Amino acid sequence: MKTKIIVSACLLGENCKYSGGNNKDEKVIALSQDFELIPVCPECFGGLPIPREPSEIKDGRVYSKSGKDLTDQFLTGAEHTLYIAQEKNCPAALLKENSPSCGFGKIYDGTFSGALCDGNGITADLLNKNGIAVFGESKVDKLVFLYK
Ligand code: SF4
Repeated sequence: MKTKIIVSACLLGENCKYSGGNNKDEKVIALSQDFELIPVCPECFGGLPIPREPSEIKDGRVYSKSGKDLTDQFLTGAEHTLYIAQEKNCPAALLKENSPSCGFGKIYDGTFSGALCDGNGITADLLNKNGIAVFGESKVDKLVFLYK
């Protein structure tokens, strides 16, 4: 039986990005040869529409570009994603880098300028705190090495 891995749906080509597009990544899609991929989009789980305004984290809360506080929606999406990961027994997650939901280690800094700062997206942080190993798309090889 293949190990189950949580994956950001936008990396698999689903048009769930804030812009209505995706972040399709062939290397991530190819993971399906070795793993059962469980697609998630925490922002959609949180009830946010497609397309939507971009959001970033500032002082521990999530704001849309026009200043709307979306922290509750992001937390709902994170909890829903954690529920799925635990229900499916996923030891790891492959999540989109830099996102305020999915980023791990580095995220956009809250100024909507494209600048990054140290930190985790809301979902990546919750998964990590619950023992699920989080990798960004540039770390696919590491995930394969550790979990195949
Ligand atoms: Fe992709 Fe995550 Fe943003 Fe959804 S919340 S579009 S999965 S980066």
